[in-house]
Amino acid sequence: MKFSLARIPLSVQFGAAAFLFAAALLSLWLTWSTAVDRERRRASTRSDLAAAGGALAKSGADVLAELPRWPDLPSPDEWSRTDQSLAERNRAILQGFRGVEGGFFVRERRQFLGHARSFGPRPKLPYPASKKDEANPRRRLATALEPEAPANVTDESAAPPMSDEAELVEIQADAAIRRNQVLFVIQESPPGAVAIWASPVEVDGRIVGAAWTLTRMVDPIFLGRSLRGSNIAAGLALGGLALSTALTASLARTVRRQRVERDRLQAELRRSERLAALGKLLAGVAHEVRNPLAGIRSSVQLWQRGIGPDPESFEDLLAEVDRLEGIVARLLQFSRADAQALVAGDLNVVVAEVGRLARAQAEPLHVNVEVDLDAQIPAVAMSPPAVIQVLRNLTTNALQALPAGGSLRLETRFDPERRVALARVIDDGPGVPHDVMTHLFEPFFTTKPGGTGLGLAIAREIALAHRGELGVEKRVDGRSGAVFTLVLPVDETPIEFAPSSDAHQHKENAHVGT
Ligand code: ADP
Repeated sequence: MKFSLARIPLSVQFGAAAFLFAAALLSLWLTWSTAVDRERRRASTRSDLAAAGGALAKSGADVLAELPRWPDLPSPDEWSRTDQSLAERNRAILQGFRGVEGGFFVRERRQFLGHARSFGPRPKLPYPASKKDEANPRRRLATALEPEAPANVTDESAAPPMSDEAELVEIQADAAIRRNQVLFVIQESPPGAVAIWASPVEVDGRIVGAAWTLTRMVDPIFLGRSLRGSNIAAGLALGGLALSTALTASLARTVRRQRVERDRLQAELRRSERLAALGKLLAGVAHEVRNPLAGIRSSVQLWQRGIGPDPESFEDLLAEVDRLEGIVARLLQFSRADAQALVAGDLNVVVAEVGRLARAQAEPLHVNVEVDLDAQIPAVAMSPPAVIQVLRNLTTNALQALPAGGSLRLETRFDPERRVALARVIDDGPGVPHDVMTHLFEPFFTTKPGGTGLGLAIAREIALAHRGELGVEKRVDGRSGAVFTLVLPVDETPIEFAPSSDAHQHKENAHVGT
């Protein structure tokens, strides 16, 4: 069975990507902060060792100057005295530097002199004294020497009282002498690491040896394996980042695919809804067209039999033809309802215009028209002529329902939570009876003798084509009347509709007469 990310639930993929990303970031941060910490401690170790070593070099130079020069060699006694005197001075200096040991390396005899260790708490050795240490004279010295005990170094054991680090110190001191410069290194000395500082000591213009200081580092961040650990952690972190990026990319692809699929399904649903509505509409059309046709047919049959035509039957015939024409004109509006070019527009401008037109219609009826606009409304995606048509259908219905002296109110509001703009047409007429309410938006549903029952159906179609809605409620203030509300989404995601060449005609078609 082929593995596919698509089989894993989206929430699990999201969780895994977020977890991997967070873990990778944490790991990178830890690696980075370890590196910074390491550098900071390295710098402070260097400055400690340099301060201690500088003091050692300064105080030891005059003692070293008293040693006989090559080819003369100091006697063992002389050597031992110098060693002890230097060790005492050094011990006094190193007292102020916790965990630091140091001394001198004499060039001509390639020997260590004046080793001393800090008198603070004893620096922790990176290893416990073992049987192996007992067998190794250098290690034995290192583990036997307590910082409180005075250095008891003889000529024969002029090796530094250290363990394997002696070799590292020697290499470092020798390099400082040869290059005549101060050197600082941190070197692995398993199981820990040592930091060594070395500086050439000059007597009368001649380099006689080197002063050195050393401190042991058992801190894991100085160990090679910690570096390896950091590298592995950084590698893992980068791997995690790459994986979480891949997961996120795959997620984005899935989400995009799902969105396309959802849009396709929605479009299909809308299409089948419209097909169902069209079926109903056609049934209504057939019914509506049959009535005038039957009227026309019976008039013509009468004429065939020699009865008429009289002026009255001509009038009837013309009225039936007008009725048919009215139905055809309204049907055309239906077909155009979803072919609007939607642009960002100001709903207030549209409602103000409808208010102006309604006032002209209302005046002879002695109906008062009021317009109340909400200035805070953002732009909505709409076809202004189509929205004018919706609102005019509503105001015409209201004016037809209102008695003389009634009032019609147009208002706009913004609902910031739903991110929609509302346009309301409110009248204080008789209101919509309960049994009418459920059929109100059905094509050809009318309670008026000359009505087509298409006004509200078309208005709702236009609202749906705007991804909005059209609804009706009773008045909330307890008065009789109807409240029709057109809801249009705020223009945030512009909707691409096929621009219609007929769009400009809507203004002309936005006539009233329902
Ligand atoms: P028509 O106006 O041709 O009847 P409409 O679709 O515009 O078609 O309206 C359908 C029906 O809704 C009307 O016949 C009427 O009964 C009812 N109606 C619409 N508006 C109102 C209103 N403001 N007050 C009361 N009834 C209304």
